[in-house]
Amino acid sequence: MSGDSFQATEQDAARTGAGLERFVELFGVGIADTKLEDAAAWIVRRAQHRLQSSVAFLNAHCVNTLYRDEIYKRALAGMDRVFADGSGMRLAARASGIALQDNVNGTDLFPVLCRKAAAAGTGLYLLGARPGIAAAAGQQMQAVNPGLRIAGTRDGYFQGEAGEARVIDDINASGADIVLVAMGVPTQEVWIARNRHLLAAPVVIGVGGLFDYYSGRIPRAPMALRRMGLEWAWRLAQEPRRLARRYLLGNIEFMARVAWQRLNRQQAA
Ligand code: UDP
Repeated sequence: MSGDSFQATEQDAARTGAGLERFVELFGVGIADTKLEDAAAWIVRRAQHRLQSSVAFLNAHCVNTLYRDEIYKRALAGMDRVFADGSGMRLAARASGIALQDNVNGTDLFPVLCRKAAAAGTGLYLLGARPGIAAAAGQQMQAVNPGLRIAGTRDGYFQGEAGEARVIDDINASGADIVLVAMGVPTQEVWIARNRHLLAAPVVIGVGGLFDYYSGRIPRAPMALRRMGLEWAWRLAQEPRRLARRYLLGNIEFMARVAWQRLNRQQAA
């Protein structure tokens, strides 16, 4: 992981009143352990100071993916920040004796980021999901944050190199400061790694399927389920055909990886 040293982060925190982040290693990935509010504040600060930054979220499904997809693994390694997303990561951390500060996932971060971006005058470009979904999500966010600048939106189903080049031109012409890429794991991270250097926007974030929720296309899990760490079960109920393999087999695979990591750490201690 590239980016600030811990000391720089500490000075930053002292200056801005933000909380401290620390870096922990889980499944071979450097994770920035911080609070959701502080993660959003960091992103907006990077955009304001025009510091090139790429951001990803790592959940149980991502961990399973990185073990079989070397290109995704490399894309993650090049990110400036990877945040721990979901109850699976909390559990994996705890099994290694680490208490994570927060569940920093893209879906919860998005409204916080929109609020902070509106206050800072930072423009967002929403890329991904089916046609019309990113635009609808942007409108919903603007209704809640009247000052929010949505610099542009685009669906995530463009074809070939020419389609990709047009999308990049559109993002650059929009003057966006932060680009949210919502094309699913690992497509979005690989896309970011491949195109980061072509994008004028300082910050690029891989956010997953969240425009579907904020546009109202798919209802999000009730808060009670989210608090219990069962959002995955809700998602599975919404889209069983697409997600059965990911969650039913995936959760077993992930738990085996957690147990394996714990064993390795105990032996190394
Ligand atoms: N998607 C896209 N382009 C593609 C494939 C998928 O924009 O070529 C979108 C899809 O419409 C959905 C999101 O990517 O909005 C993927 O959602 P998923 O729940 O799989 O992502 P996750 O958050 O689990 O990574």
